[in-house]
Amino acid sequence: SLIGRTSVAVQDADADRLARRRDDVVAQVQEHYYAQPPRIERGWRHHLIDVDGRAYLDMVNNVAILGHGEPRLAHAVDAQMRRLNTNSRFHYGAIVELSERLASLAPDGLDTVMLVNSGSEAVDLALRIVRAVTGREDVLALTEAYHGWTIGADAVSTSLGDNPRALDTRPSWVHLLDAPNTYRGTHRGDDAHLYLPDALDRIAALDDAGVSLAGFIAEPLFGNGGGIALPDGYLAGVWAAIRARGGLCISDEVQVSYGRLGRHFWGFEQQGAVPDVITVAKAMGNGHPLGAVITSREVADAFAVEGSFFSSAGGSPVSCVVGTAVLDILESDGLQDNARVVGERLANGLRALAGAHPALGAVHGMGLYLGVEVVAGGPDAPDSAGAREICDALLDQGVIVQPTGDHKNVLKIKPPMTIDDAAVDRFLAALDRVLTWREARRAL
Ligand code: PLP
Repeated sequence: SLIGRTSVAVQDADADRLARRRDDVVAQVQEHYYAQPPRIERGWRHHLIDVDGRAYLDMVNNVAILGHGEPRLAHAVDAQMRRLNTNSRFHYGAIVELSERLASLAPDGLDTVMLVNSGSEAVDLALRIVRAVTGREDVLALTEAYHGWTIGADAVSTSLGDNPRALDTRPSWVHLLDAPNTYRGTHRGDDAHLYLPDALDRIAALDDAGVSLAGFIAEPLFGNGGGIALPDGYLAGVWAAIRARGGLCISDEVQVSYGRLGRHFWGFEQQGAVPDVITVAKAMGNGHPLGAVITSREVADAFAVEGSFFSSAGGSPVSCVVGTAVLDILESDGLQDNARVVGERLANGLRALAGAHPALGAVHGMGLYLGVEVVAGGPDAPDSAGAREICDALLDQGVIVQPTGDHKNVLKIKPPMTIDDAAVDRFLAALDRVLTWREARRAL
């Protein structure tokens, strides 16, 4: 029949379209990452398994802090799906449980949690909050940061990685402050006092230009830059200057929170200062769409939006039980301690390899958020082709790592927080082999 034929035609067209789409995705991955990308089908803890059953060590995962295939998460989702699947203005249980739990982990006074679906949404909401509460428009953002793909988050981002820019020109309400890059910046030192005078001058220059800042947004570590930490005390200094002018300070914790840095649950703790607004996502749902803004009751009341529903699915009961189960598992399995102890083994191993192989430069980061520079002779010679070559060769060895940073020369090493000594040693041995072979090939 005509209907039958039409549906066959549609199916053919669909199959065609899907094949084209798959080819596009593969081409994109090839362009940015691997010549022969694996086709991953499933995961187990810190391993990913491809369609042929080959297992890879997942050494770069921004979201799955608990790793893959965690049965306790699957159980929580299944039970809540059957109980109540979607948001209802009259259901509070799962939302209140997660919100209270998160607030109990936040510094005193930051006790109000607003739930959304992603980090980008959290950043956009945080920007809305600081602008609405202060009645001002202008926002200061640190360069070398990525805050998300939505228009607000894009407007305050500088380091986009592979993401396309949403806006051709940065809106006039966004002002930039040069990031204190201790590795590749002008000063090259860890002391915040090297960088603070420039930051304070920049803020004073904005005063002189008649700009009243609603707030300032920053990541405590250069997320897309491969984990370079801001100098200790830098944020405290800048935040004091912003607050003295009536602005609010946002710490974007989307990449660095949940104990990944080992010593602290939040990234800003490393800086010894407390922000006015926290944005969080990624690890919060172990990959399930979930994000939050955490702030004080005072700021939330001044924002004066009734209820906590900003979007249809944000903070759905299923997302919330995932969020609570993630925190339960993180705590019961001691994963923050694991990040500290195993992270140290990993960092020491990387430093030893950097000492032995000239292609590796500085090792950045802390806990299980590390980055290692691939260089061709010092920090001024970032070697993106070399980084790509090493990632390709590591893939052959069953290890997934990804180049990051503005120069695409930093191997980003951010495994699930379940990783153990044996897996770390396997990774280090694979990297050692790859570098040794590369040197031997070059010597021929
Ligand atoms: N903020 C930071 C620091 C990020 O690294 C990212 C994502 O990479 C985001 C915000 C955006 O989060 P999402 O991808 O969940 O929208």
